[in-house]
Amino acid sequence: MLIKNLSKSTPCVSKRVLLNDGHFMPLVGLGTYTALDQEVKKTLRMAIEAGYRMFDTAMLYENEVAIGEAIREMIDEGIIRREDIFITTKVWNTYHSQKQVMVSAKKSLENLGLDYVDLLLIHWPTGFKENSGHRPKDSNGKYMYSEIDYTETWLGMEDVLESGLTKSIGVSNFNHKQLERIIEMCEHKPVVNQVECHPYLNQQKLVDFCDEHDIILQAFTPLGRGEINVLSDLALKKIAAAHEKSVAQVAIRFQVQRGVSVIPKSCTKTRIIENMNVFDFTLAEDEMDSLMSLNKNKHVLLKDDMADHPHYPFHEEY
Ligand code: NDP
Repeated sequence: MLIKNLSKSTPCVSKRVLLNDGHFMPLVGLGTYTALDQEVKKTLRMAIEAGYRMFDTAMLYENEVAIGEAIREMIDEGIIRREDIFITTKVWNTYHSQKQVMVSAKKSLENLGLDYVDLLLIHWPTGFKENSGHRPKDSNGKYMYSEIDYTETWLGMEDVLESGLTKSIGVSNFNHKQLERIIEMCEHKPVVNQVECHPYLNQQKLVDFCDEHDIILQAFTPLGRGEINVLSDLALKKIAAAHEKSVAQVAIRFQVQRGVSVIPKSCTKTRIIENMNVFDFTLAEDEMDSLMSLNKNKHVLLKDDMADHPHYPFHEEY
């Protein structure tokens, strides 16, 4: 079994992993991209009941307010305590200067109605022009970039950490060279790199790099978001049938078993339950090998509309 640093006793269904700053993080959490308003509030309740304790949001998703309301309501009703749950949010591209990172963190906390988040991530290494909306574009419809280097953004992340507004800090969509630059200049290392990861994009080189530096890789779009055929893959179907599990459960278990944290999104009760129910079976070594062999370096989220950004992460091989 490849799971490392797992705590022995956990209050919830998801196992937890020890981060390099001493905090614990659940291995499996709930993605919330595209889930809004009443739907995301209802979803959070179903997820808490199903054993989820980690929720992934971002300023960009425009659901922080609803997520915060759901959490505060459940705290008030005595269903959860703040310390039992793990909230991740992210600093968007238009808040990359050192000072603006703090502005972004405070805005997210105001949206959530919370005193702190558990994990704050730089959403992308690519800064955009500040103070012109989330997606500043010129008259040709092209993104307007900023000159700000993500190492400056990291200084802002460290300021937020030291102010106590987040327990941990990390990055998202960073390649290994970008991570290396952060590691070389930082006082506090990133605890997580959240990147797209599924059997068609297994990110093994980046997983190895992160392992070496005690950084947890967290898999977003672990089910391929329905845009690539991960859930209809024949090899996955065969393994799922052998374990009497669903293909989604195999795709999630695949990550958990290689020590990769994973945040599938669903607003459907049966799937929310299904996606967390991955701790009662083990994939054999040959099944893990077979899943690893499906890699095609295939991205759902290539963001090629910003491929000419100086810090676009996907030119470098991961
Ligand atoms: P996922 O791979 O999690 O796929 C979500 C889709 O799969 C939804 O349409 C959902 O439908 C469906 N689904 C969920 N469970 C099942 C199941 N058991 N069987 C069949 N279909 C299922 O994609 P996401 O892109 O949403 O990634 C997950 C999360 O990662 C995001 O929500 C977000 O929080 C984060 N993320 C982060 C990014 C970043 O840049 N850092 C980028 C992209 C995502 P339904 O809801 O109808 O059940």
